[in-house]
Amino acid sequence: MKRVKMLAGNWKMNKLNRELAGFFATFFESVGWYRDETISDRIDVLFAVPATLMAQAVPLAEPNGVRIAAQNIHWESAGAFTGEISLPMITEAGVTATLIGHSERRQYFAETDETVSRKTKAALNADVMPIVCIGETLDQREAGLTQEVVSRQVKAALEGIEDPKDLVLAYEPVWAIGTGRSATAAQAQEVHAEIRQLLRAKYGQSIGSSIRVLYGGSATPSNIEDLLSQKDIDGALVGGASLKPDDFAKMVRAGL
Ligand code: PEP
Repeated sequence: MKRVKMLAGNWKMNKLNRELAGFFATFFESVGWYRDETISDRIDVLFAVPATLMAQAVPLAEPNGVRIAAQNIHWESAGAFTGEISLPMITEAGVTATLIGHSERRQYFAETDETVSRKTKAALNADVMPIVCIGETLDQREAGLTQEVVSRQVKAALEGIEDPKDLVLAYEPVWAIGTGRSATAAQAQEVHAEIRQLLRAKYGQSIGSSIRVLYGGSATPSNIEDLLSQKDIDGALVGGASLKPDDFAKMVRAGL
């Protein structure tokens, strides 16, 4: 089963609207396929941007085959949830995907396996692609708990989901995020292979083999080829390096 590679940028709480036109002009020029409509057959590229940038980023990115994603959503579609953003709000802005359960949200904003599960179901129901983040902390890895933690997070996120549609998982070891210390390609592959087994056990050979699993954690132009060469690594979720258009373009080219 062929899985189209995905390179997903996560801008976190960075960038202003006035930077967008310059960023995308440099990115598309550097990547070399400005307005190439066939690109999405070969690679999926997306940027998860702050809410304030969505409406302006969509017309710059989508016509050139690049998706804009949210970084978080609420599972309810409207209501008394001050400071939150709903699926109808992001889809109105033209957004077609969302990160869910990023470790920074788990760590700083009380995201739990249960809220991840609710958000994942809500995104699938709204036909928004969920990119569900999972991964162990350094303490958990050193205690030999990586497999147990990742397996618990995957099972919780997928609980009650019979049809995963275009769901994507992102394995992001917490100790590798923003630290400059990437997992080695072999370390990442080992966990990805376990996740692949879980997916096949739950959804069967065909669907279980079709779900993409990205790696995230200090991926850069220098280690991306190594990571992407692994059998079960289907792309990358990229924080810091996605803020630099030339660096991210290099990483996208490595996925082609
Ligand atoms: C991320 O934010 O998901 C991430 C992987 O960040 P970085 O690439 O900066 O480690």
